[in-house]
Amino acid sequence: MVRTLTNAIHADRLPHAFILTGVRGVGKTSTARIIARALNCVGEDGNGGPTPESCGVCAHCLAITEDRHVDVIEMDAASRTGVNDIRELIDGVRYRPVDARFKIYIIDEVHMLSSSAFNALLKTLEEPPEHVKFIFATTETRKVPVTVLSRCQRFDLRRVDAETLIAHFNSVAEQESASVAEGAMGLIARAADGSVRDGLSLLDQAIAHAGTAEGGEVSEEAVRDMLGLADGGLIYDLFAAAMQGMVDEALNIFNQLYDAGADPAIVLQDLLQLTHWLTRIKLSPSAAEGQGISQIDRDRGLSLAETLSVPTLGRTWQLLLKGLSEVQSLPSSAQAAEMVLIRLAYMADLPNPADLVRTLKDDSGAAPPVPQAAASPSPSPDLAPTHASQDDSAPRMASGMGSRDVMPQPLSDPDQTPPIQETQQAPLLEEPNTGLQSYEQIVAMFEDRREAILHATLINHVHLVRFEVGHIALRTEPEAPSDLATRVSKFLSEWTGDQWLVSLSEEIGAPTIREQQDVQEAERRGKATGHPLVQAALEAFPGATVEAITEQTPEEFLDSVEDEDDDDTETEKADS
Ligand SMILES: [Zn+2]
Repeated sequence: MVRTLTNAIHADRLPHAFILTGVRGVGKTSTARIIARALNCVGEDGNGGPTPESCGVCAHCLAITEDRHVDVIEMDAASRTGVNDIRELIDGVRYRPVDARFKIYIIDEVHMLSSSAFNALLKTLEEPPEHVKFIFATTETRKVPVTVLSRCQRFDLRRVDAETLIAHFNSVAEQESASVAEGAMGLIARAADGSVRDGLSLLDQAIAHAGTAEGGEVSEEAVRDMLGLADGGLIYDLFAAAMQGMVDEALNIFNQLYDAGADPAIVLQDLLQLTHWLTRIKLSPSAAEGQGISQIDRDRGLSLAETLSVPTLGRTWQLLLKGLSEVQSLPSSAQAAEMVLIRLAYMADLPNPADLVRTLKDDSGAAPPVPQAAASPSPSPDLAPTHASQDDSAPRMASGMGSRDVMPQPLSDPDQTPPIQETQQAPLLEEPNTGLQSYEQIVAMFEDRREAILHATLINHVHLVRFEVGHIALRTEPEAPSDLATRVSKFLSEWTGDQWLVSLSEEIGAPTIREQQDVQEAERRGKATGHPLVQAALEAFPGATVEAITEQTPEEFLDSVEDEDDDDTETEKADS
């Protein structure tokens, strides 16, 4: 801002209007006055022009600083929003400044003006007299019409960061000969949220409080009280109890806080803040050495962070965030907060999924299916889509390769003579020993060869009666085409180079592949839902359902847990 303004002054190209934006208390009106001084300063000798470094001692500088300059008119649009207020102001625009170089209008909270007031103002902004400057201040530029914005030089005042605030407040406290504990100052700076004014007023209150206290030091505890923050130690106790799955203990501490007047939503916000803090120092412990960090955050924070994993902290964050919105939207906020704590305790009680898999792996060396309940709002990091077919893992074509003795016997039916190969398919004749050993392998072959309709028919409407290499007997349902047997036979002979006889039978035969899959899926689902881990998850997240079941080896699972940003996960909705 200083650079832009300096350039404009040196080039003698001053804009007619400025707009200053930023959060409340960041210094917008103070900055407006500094700009007013820069524009009207005449220097110590009384002969100077506009300057980026106003002298601070000339009559104009002094009058503006003391808020009594006749040509610098301040107006709070929050209290004077009407078109008449603006008319009155604009009427004055016509007259030359009494004393100074420019007549300067500072309009605070300009977004509060009514639209007719904005319209009246706009006319003046379009053709402003040479001797007039406008300086607007607002917290919400979005509410200022673009037509107005486009005629202003805009300056965005950034939120003042905590370190700067702390340094500033410390120097103020020093001037006031007040002693403020480091943690207390940190709390004040954090509560100020980038606003110098808010922070200063908090500091003021804190010092006034402490003046009556013994020793006169502003303690962290006193500031906590003043800000209505829950006791820092108790928040740590509460968090630790919940994370250790100690439901009773957690609820006791919560009730203690609640009885002492703590707002349940504030307690959850504190827990969220703590979760964020723990995650931060978990990832970079040096953050605990920063300015304004309280003793408890430093000591208990570091030791607590050590006991928790980043994925656990992530889940905790999500659970608390969801819980906070419940607490805020429900009339019985204390009950809602208790439920959140219970969920948190149950979640923490569950073994870390990664640890669980390691345990299972160590126990058996085999890979049991790891069912996953889709209960958390985040997508579960499934690695592989669940295929309905249970035979995917089995080699389809290669099982009999190279073993002559399983070659199907060619049948001497002249009608079944394979036609001349004209297709662009892989030259199967070069590998004649594709011994198809099961009906499932044959069906899979139709999928591989993209005979989708036949494949679907074989799965859904065909019962296997008998399977021998080279001869299949099937019973078809009415939905299957009447020439199914001929076509299957023709394709198989074509693809394998061997004769395959496909006959139709009246016998009942086996269930269709679909029926078998449905049974298997139901069994799988029952097994997954009955798994203690899933049961615990369903209990901890009321209303959660098992959406998808994926089977992974422990290695795959660990990869998926560690690689959380795997976005293109596929889950298959259960359709049965
Ligand atoms: Zn001056």
